[in-house]
Amino acid sequence: MAALADCIGCEPAVLQATLDAMRAGAAAPDGRVFARGLDAPYFAVKVTGALFHTQGGLDTAPDMRVLRQGGAPFANLLAAGGAAGGVSGDAVWGYLSGNGLLSAVAGGYIAAHTAAALVQHKEASA
Ligand SMILES: Cc1cc2nc3c(=O)[nH]c(=O)nc-3n(C[C@H](O)[C@H](O)[C@H](O)COP(=O)(O)OP(=O)(O)OC[C@H]3O[C@@H](n4cnc5c(N)ncnc54)[C@H](O)[C@@H]3O)c2cc1C
Repeated sequence: MAALADCIGCEPAVLQATLDAMRAGAAAPDGRVFARGLDAPYFAVKVTGALFHTQGGLDTAPDMRVLRQGGAPFANLLAAGGAAGGVSGDAVWGYLSGNGLLSAVAGGYIAAHTAAALVQHKEASA
């Protein structure tokens, strides 16, 4: 226990009290109540932050063609997923779980249909 506490940088007594409380279904020293206890052997994993979703990106028309600054679409430039503005808006509160994959999968599907229609139109007029 002392080695694990040293490894993760906490007081051995606090770590022991936390594990005891978890096993008993009681409140840990920091007030948290855990759903279940853990049995030895214990392992530690370092958890840290990472970028998983960005908001903002290229403005697109409903057919996923990229919009110019003036609002007119480029003829042959498409964007979806992380490259496009997406559905989360530009503020933190706009994100809902699933928004990243939604704009990648649904936007990619729409963009593929737009690209196919552009190719068909080009072939028909050639
Ligand atoms: C840890 C994590 C958890 C996530 N959890 C969720 C979640 O629960 N729900 C959710 O909705 N979203 C989640 N996301 C976000 C979601 O995964 C992304 O929004 C989504 O994958 C974006 O899809 P994309 O196709 O636009 O881009 P990506 O999935 O990033 O695909 C881009 C691809 O292009 C390739 N590429 C890049 N540059 C080049 C190049 N020059 N030439 C050729 N290929 C290139 C890359 O290798 C990659 O394969 C999570 C993301 C992470 C990292």
